[in-house]
Amino acid sequence: MLAVLHCAFARSRSHALTLALCAASAWAFADDVAPLDQRIAEIRELNRFVPERALPKLEALEPEARNAPLAQRIEFLNQLAVARHGLGHHAQSFALANELIAIGREHDHPGALAKGLLMQGYSAFAQHRPGEAHRLVWEAEKLANTTQDMDLRVRAMISSGESHAEDGNLPSALERLQAAAALARKNGDPVHIVMALNSLVRLYAKMREPEKGFGLIDEALAAAQKANSPGRMATIKNAEYWLAIDTGQRKRALRALQEGLALERSIGANKRIVVSLINLSDFYLKTGDFKNAASYAEQAVAATGPLNDRALNATAHLNLGQAYLGIGRVAEGKRQIEMGMAGYEEIGDKPELQTALVEYGSALERVGDLPGALQAYHRERKISNELFERRRQQAMLELQEKYETDKKQRQIELLRSENLIKSTEIDNRRLQQRVWWLLVAVFALAATVVGLLYRKVRHANAQLHEKNRELKQQSVRDPLTGLYNRRHFLEFMRTPAPAGQQVDGGALFLLDVDHFKNINDTYGHAAGDAVLTTIAARLCEILRETDMIVRWGGEEFLAYLPTAPAGKEGLDEVAGRILAGIGATVIDHGGTALSVNVSIGYAPFPLSVGKQALAWERVVNLVDMALYLAKSHGRNRAYGVRGFADDRLASIDAIEQNLEHAWRAGQVDLSTVMGEREPLRAANG
Ligand code: GH3
Ligand code: MG
Ligand code: MG
Repeated sequence: MLAVLHCAFARSRSHALTLALCAASAWAFADDVAPLDQRIAEIRELNRFVPERALPKLEALEPEARNAPLAQRIEFLNQLAVARHGLGHHAQSFALANELIAIGREHDHPGALAKGLLMQGYSAFAQHRPGEAHRLVWEAEKLANTTQDMDLRVRAMISSGESHAEDGNLPSALERLQAAAALARKNGDPVHIVMALNSLVRLYAKMREPEKGFGLIDEALAAAQKANSPGRMATIKNAEYWLAIDTGQRKRALRALQEGLALERSIGANKRIVVSLINLSDFYLKTGDFKNAASYAEQAVAATGPLNDRALNATAHLNLGQAYLGIGRVAEGKRQIEMGMAGYEEIGDKPELQTALVEYGSALERVGDLPGALQAYHRERKISNELFERRRQQAMLELQEKYETDKKQRQIELLRSENLIKSTEIDNRRLQQRVWWLLVAVFALAATVVGLLYRKVRHANAQLHEKNRELKQQSVRDPLTGLYNRRHFLEFMRTPAPAGQQVDGGALFLLDVDHFKNINDTYGHAAGDAVLTTIAARLCEILRETDMIVRWGGEEFLAYLPTAPAGKEGLDEVAGRILAGIGATVIDHGGTALSVNVSIGYAPFPLSVGKQALAWERVVNLVDMALYLAKSHGRNRAYGVRGFADDRLASIDAIEQNLEHAWRAGQVDLSTVMGEREPLRAANG
């Protein structure tokens, strides 16, 4: 007992025949003058149920359709593919589907792409590759939903729902099919409504919810009526048959089946007729009415003759064989069954073959052919093992495919994330470089600024240093001669000498240039300056480095010798050296040789009266008096204080008042040193 479930994706393994015929409407064909798209639309429903009649009409349109605008060309190719599919011309149908896909890609037309993919899906299903078929249909549905083509969207949605049902995912199937029904009702196209409800009814049967299925039958029949489509009406009757069988309502089942057959006969839907005949034979086999079963099976076998459908033919033979066995025509029965199984063998439908063998074995057993039954059993086992192996390999392949796909996906994701990381790294590096350059620039700028500031400060410091040095010089030195100035000497004398450095044996000399005024008057002030500068330099040579030489006034010089040569004659000797040294110095002034003499007063310093050391001011005063004496006695000579007759301080006052008088009175001991010669006196010529 075999049955056929024959809608795009509603093939059942149950032992009965379901025939879900998915289309057929009135075909009131208009004249050839009607627009092409209209003529294609009119062929469409005929194509669904009687493809053998639709095909020649489509072929007649082909030259025109292939040069028609894109939308018409696409729908024409789609219908041609449906016709080829309906007639079992799988290769041609597949090629047309590919053409649609190519057009879709070339023209960026998701509608064409979706139609092509749907057709490929139907082909895959017809060739027993359900997994592939489902994937294609779902992809087609996604594309269809991006278009405004309502017909395409509803059909794709229905096929998608049926694919989910095939796949065992009933909740998703229900969701898609209900959505399709809702969309169809909303759009109000009765053909769409019948299609959606038909699939939904079959799903409810599969879900063991027949009441929900029955609840839709009337609405579906009304829509088929409205569409004026006996073919659609027949599909609903077929669906009703299955619901009735499942719920044990044999009478209702038989009535639905016979009404469906009548409708199919009315439009000459040959394939559908065969399916209904097979289902009728199946019905009678189940009820044990082998005579009727044989009668419908014979009709079915005869009707499959012109059809290019090996599976239907095989099923018809199997049912006929079962019927013959039932009525005791064992040999004929066995022959029919062998023919049926050969058919399944031919198309490679092992599952059907297996089912057939099981039934064959039990039928032979019933009629007492135990060796035959055993043989059928062994064949069944063999196929079962083959099937098991095939399923195992298929599962392996699918697993492998999935693994490869996952691996590829993972690799792509890995690459993507690597790229992301790399580009982020590059960005970071760029940023870092920028920051470094910025820092370098900032440091360079800062260094330059600091350098400039440093140079400026250093320059300023140097200037300051120079200024300070100058200032100090000015405060300590005489600008003309470079000797210490008078203020420095006073300062020096006021500062108490550090302990231990208070030494005896020093001396003070005071010099004054003789007739210096004459130099100025005769040769000019500059000549006078030159004389002063030269005397200063000369004094530095004559005296020691440790002696302090001071410009005391205009042309007066003071020398403080911290340690004078020992003995009373020592100071006279120094005085003589000065007189001689200065007197011998020739000063060149613009070609004129000048020379001068000096007069000198001097004394030991410190100078004591008795045990009392005289204040330095008093010593300087005494020396000044001695210098005055040297001047008044003729110049170019030196007078030095050597000692006092009275060692009481009171006597010093009188001596200071009049040195010459004191000297004559013998109160003071003076030494006299004479200059060596008369100087070249400019005034004298
Ligand atoms: P005497 O022998 O009595 O010392 O005669 P004198 O001409 O040297 O004495 P006086 O004190 O009358 O003259 C000193 C002159 O020195 C007066 C002054 O113009 C001059 N004189 C003072 N200081 C400077 C100076 O720095 N440069 C020049 N060229 N002349 C100066
Ligand atoms: Mg003077
Ligand atoms: Mg003078």
